[in-house]
Amino acid sequence: MSLIVQKFGGSSVSDAEGIKRVAQRVVDTQAAGNQVVVVVSAMGDTTDELLDLANQISSDRSAREMDMLLSAGERISMSLLAMAIQEFGSRAQSFTGSQAGMVTDAIHGKARIIDVSPHRVLTTIERGDIAIVAGFQGISQESNDITTLGRGGSDTTAVALAAALGADVCEIYTDVDGIYTADPRVVHSAKKIDTISSEEMLEMAASGSKILHLRCVEYARRFGVKLHVRSSFSTNEGTWVLPSPDDKIKIQEGEPLEQPIISGVAHDRSEAKVTILGVPDIPGKAAEIFGIVAGAHSNIDMIVQNISTRGTGKTDISFTLPMVEGKEALDALNAAQDVVGFEGILYNENVGKLSLIGAGMRSNPGVSYKFFEALHKAGVNVDMISTSEIRISIVTHADLLDTAVRAVHAAFGLDTDEEATVYGGTGR
Ligand code: ASP
Ligand code: MG
Repeated sequence: MSLIVQKFGGSSVSDAEGIKRVAQRVVDTQAAGNQVVVVVSAMGDTTDELLDLANQISSDRSAREMDMLLSAGERISMSLLAMAIQEFGSRAQSFTGSQAGMVTDAIHGKARIIDVSPHRVLTTIERGDIAIVAGFQGISQESNDITTLGRGGSDTTAVALAAALGADVCEIYTDVDGIYTADPRVVHSAKKIDTISSEEMLEMAASGSKILHLRCVEYARRFGVKLHVRSSFSTNEGTWVLPSPDDKIKIQEGEPLEQPIISGVAHDRSEAKVTILGVPDIPGKAAEIFGIVAGAHSNIDMIVQNISTRGTGKTDISFTLPMVEGKEALDALNAAQDVVGFEGILYNENVGKLSLIGAGMRSNPGVSYKFFEALHKAGVNVDMISTSEIRISIVTHADLLDTAVRAVHAAFGLDTDEEATVYGGTGR
C-alpha cells in the first residue's frame, strides 16, 4: 500500500463540478489500494477576491486579520470536498492547518513551518478514511494565532505533510499537464518536461515560475520528497521533480537520458526595482541598507552596485524585491535616510524579470552569448543582470517581457509544434 499526498490547486476546485471531479479522483486513488491525504487550495480566485475585499475596507490591513480572512478560503474547499467524497460513499474528514498540526512561527502572511505533527491526519488514514487538509495555513507556536504561509503556500503544506507522514509521493494537481519549458499561457509552443531536478526547479520557482511554490521545492529537496506535478483535468503523466539524480535514472527505467542544456525560461512580473541614490562608498553601507530591508521582512532578489562616480565617493545600489513588500521596505529605508546618508530613492514597478535555467549551462560555453543575442534581436533592452551556476536572469521593461520570453525560448530550440493545453484557471 502506498501513501499518497494529493494537492489540488484553486483552479481544480473552482466550482461544484470541479470539487466533484476532484472527489472522484481521490476516491479512485484510494480504491486502487492507497492511503490518501488531500491538501486543497481555496476555490478559484477566492484568495484574490478576499484580498480585493480587504483592500476596499482598509489600506493598512492588520496582518493577523488578513490571515484570519485568507485562511477561510481553504476551509470552504476542504469541507465541500469532504462532503463530495462522502457523496461517493467513502469516508473523509477535513482539518484546518492547526488541526493537522502545522505549527509555524508568528510572521503573518509568510509564516515558516516549525513543526508538523499530523496525529489526527494519521489516525484518519490508519482507520482507512481520507484526510483532507486546508492548504497554506498553520498556527503560531508563540501567539496561538492562525497564520498563512504566503501566496501559493498550499504546495508547501502538501510537501510538509508528505515529509512528516513519509509519503511515497506528493502529487501536485494543477490546470496544466505538468511543468513546461515556459509558461504555456505566454509561449503556446512550450514543451512539457518529463523529469526535472529539484535544483533546476528551485531556480525556476525562484525566477517566477508559479507552477510550484518556491518553499515547497526547497522543502521537497531537503526531505527527499518526490513530486509529481500533473493535471487534475486529465490522467496524463505529468512532470517528476526529483530530489536526486539517482531517482531520475530509476524513473527512466535504466535510460539515463542526457540532460538538455536548458530546462526552461521563467518570467516574473511581481517584482519592483529600488535604486538607492548617492550611497556613501565606504565599508558597511550595503550591510546597513540590506539590514533595514531585512528588518522590514523583505526578500531581496537581484542586486547591482554601480562603480562610484569618480571624485564623489558616492555610489548607487539597485535591487529588486517583491512588489507587495515594496511599501514596507520603502518606509523603512526612508526613515533611515539620514542615518545611512544616501541622497534619494527611485522606485519602479514597471519591470519584469526573465530567467534562463539549465544545469547543462555549467559545462556549455556560449549560452550567455546566445541569450543576449536573442534579446538584442528582439529589441529588448537589459536593465539588470544576475547569474548563478545554472541560471541567467535579466530585468527589463514590463511591456517587453512576453516578447523577450518568446525570443529566448525560440533561440534555445525549446519550441514544439504542439500547442500546450491549459485546462482552466485565469492565471491570476
Ligand atoms: N489560496 C492561496 C493562494 O491563492 C494558497 C494556494 O493556493 O496555494 O495563494
Ligand atoms: Mg499554486
